[in-house]
Amino acid sequence: MDNKTLWEGVLTRLAPQIGKTTIFSLFKDSIIKNIEHGVVTVGVPTPITLNFIRDRHEIRLLQALKDLCSEVKQLKLEVMGSLADNEHPYKIDIKLFQDLNARKIRKLPNKKEVMIDGIRSKMFNPRYTLDNFIPGQENQLSHAACKAVAAKPGDIYNPLFLYGDTGLGKTHLLQGVGLEILKNFPDKNVVYMTSERFMNEIVAAIGKKHTASFKEKYRKVDCFIVDDVQFFGNKASTQQEFFHTFNELYDAGKQIVMSSDKPPRELDGLEERLKSRFGMGMVVEVLLPDYETRLAILNEKCREHQTLIDPEVLEFIAFNVHRSVRELEGILIKTMAEAKLAETTPTIKSAARAIRTLSQDETTFKGIAVDIDKSVVVRSCDDVIDIVADYFKVPKTDLIGANRRKEVMVPRQISMYLIRHVLDQSYETIGESFSGRNHTTVLHAYNKIATELEKDTRIKRDVNALLKEMGV
Ligand code: ADP
Ligand code: MG
Repeated sequence: MDNKTLWEGVLTRLAPQIGKTTIFSLFKDSIIKNIEHGVVTVGVPTPITLNFIRDRHEIRLLQALKDLCSEVKQLKLEVMGSLADNEHPYKIDIKLFQDLNARKIRKLPNKKEVMIDGIRSKMFNPRYTLDNFIPGQENQLSHAACKAVAAKPGDIYNPLFLYGDTGLGKTHLLQGVGLEILKNFPDKNVVYMTSERFMNEIVAAIGKKHTASFKEKYRKVDCFIVDDVQFFGNKASTQQEFFHTFNELYDAGKQIVMSSDKPPRELDGLEERLKSRFGMGMVVEVLLPDYETRLAILNEKCREHQTLIDPEVLEFIAFNVHRSVRELEGILIKTMAEAKLAETTPTIKSAARAIRTLSQDETTFKGIAVDIDKSVVVRSCDDVIDIVADYFKVPKTDLIGANRRKEVMVPRQISMYLIRHVLDQSYETIGESFSGRNHTTVLHAYNKIATELEKDTRIKRDVNALLKEMGV
């Protein structure tokens, strides 16, 4: 496909959303200059056009380009003054877009809206903000679309439709849009609800013959967010009511945001007219994050829970949990909760156990050898030293050697304490395992750790975790 054909294809695709008149006036002098290493450079005649396109249409353009040309990864806009009034072989055929009717958006006069009692903001979970959503590469588009909607509700991507498998962050994004709109425009009425709740309200209204007040209520909404619309499938009267509400709001230039498990055209049991309405704005898929993003999400969740966890444990979880972000978070929270309860620190083993319990299927762990079922039998000083060295990530030679840095000293003292405590070895024997140290050094270490256990929760957690690892 040459650049001109591709550009015409992209603009034809965008025409139903943007309107042919806008396409004509905005893009008639623009071209696809080139595509190199996945970067499409679009030339536009003036800086004003560039800013306008960047603010309002960049994401849409990128998505359409990606849809038509799979090698495209990125979009670059560039001002090319020569395009303003000269012919260029890459320019589009204006007849394609010229004489058609513009889509009309009827805007209501800007009167003060009435607040709907109790319905606003109470459905928002303050943890679900756009700022603490980690987009990664996979969800850059959906995150950017949400940001754009929050900046200009009802203006550009309308309706915004997010779809994807369960547990990938749709509800988080939807609530994030709502919260951010409220932050940007405190006077707006923002309503978030699940499709089930909408359905229940309709059923109740029909039962009480109150459908008129139901309609009245939703007419006052500025931004209507409906989660999981797949549940409207095969519910005829709900669909009918939703269709009317949707049209009223849409025609009034109000923002609508929806989510579902499938794209609009694949929704089962949904009327054609709804499918086409749902798909006429921006439709974006929410995808499973890759390993790096999963790790970043775990770090963010630790930050939110104000908990520090060994990076290796987080890496282990990110590596081995890859079905959904909800599962990822579930494992992290289970691991943290168990450690807290037992006054220990999460370890790879405890994380592995949490994964095993929470995942339905047989889990094989990748990237690291963990045998969570086999209990370790600790028989010698050396066994204990191995476990402690592994736990603190300290080389065994340092642990038994002369290194006096704190990162080594404390684990060494803990090893001595554990050997005495678990194996009941004499101070002399223990000293021999540590490069022939004097028995008084060992005694000192034992007493020190025994005292610290009473007052230092960090040491207490480490010792408890180690005892667990040792099967004690
Ligand atoms: P869905 O609605 O798609 O089933 P949710 O929005 O309920 O999924 O997400 C499940 C959990 O995963 C939530 O706690 C959410 O905060 C978290 N989550 C999902 N994706 C991300 C992300 N990219 N960054 C941060 N948290 C995420
Ligand atoms: Mg959800």
